[in-house]
Amino acid sequence: MKRAQIIFDDGGHRWLAIARDPDKPGYVIDTNEYLVISDGRGLLCDPGGMEIFPAVFSALSAEYDPANIDAIFASHQDPDIISSLSLWLEFNPALKCYCSWLWSSFIPHFGGGPETFVSIPDDGLDIIHGRLTLEAIPAHYLHSSGNFHLYDPKAELLFSGDIGAALLPPDEAGLYVEDFDRHIRHAEGFHRRWMGSDKAKLDWCERVSKLKIELMCPQHGAIYRGADVQRFINWFAELEVGVLRS
Ligand code: FE
Repeated sequence: MKRAQIIFDDGGHRWLAIARDPDKPGYVIDTNEYLVISDGRGLLCDPGGMEIFPAVFSALSAEYDPANIDAIFASHQDPDIISSLSLWLEFNPALKCYCSWLWSSFIPHFGGGPETFVSIPDDGLDIIHGRLTLEAIPAHYLHSSGNFHLYDPKAELLFSGDIGAALLPPDEAGLYVEDFDRHIRHAEGFHRRWMGSDKAKLDWCERVSKLKIELMCPQHGAIYRGADVQRFINWFAELEVGVLRS
């Protein structure tokens, strides 16, 4: 069963991870969803696919009233990211959805109207949420051609979408990376194949190296903490991507 776990708590400012679902059907990739709460209001990052909506909704409801979610942030357009949109909108038609301008006429195929979407320009956007200013950080071509991460400078937390993702075996299902060298073997094949551009990768590494990041939270796999964040950035900078290998 999926469950919501607190990964950052500073009074009225909290992050929850809804991570890992050993009970989900084996034919869908496992995903992590994240909720940032400020002044009681929620913003949900990459809410996931239709298939897992009931599991996400019930895990979230155990910790937080989903009626207080105002907005959704979609890192990109994939089905495991945002195909649950119409179900969320059925629950609350007033929800806003932040996504790249590039996808703002594609994602409505999953639901929503012109009033739903807030397009993020290529350079990024400051998103005011409760008392927070969250930053949409460009990560284009990593892997989607219009792709954003979400940075919370107060929590020093980067929601990193597919970057940092790892396809973990069931016996390595902890919420956090505990042994970087062991963990990263489960990330290598994914990054080589899914990340499309070496130039974009190096741009991203440079951009995020300037941010203070205590927690780097990917959409699949485990959360990187402390020194493992820079360790990951260095590893990624060195990795050859965008080349099909047999
Ligand atoms: Fe994706």
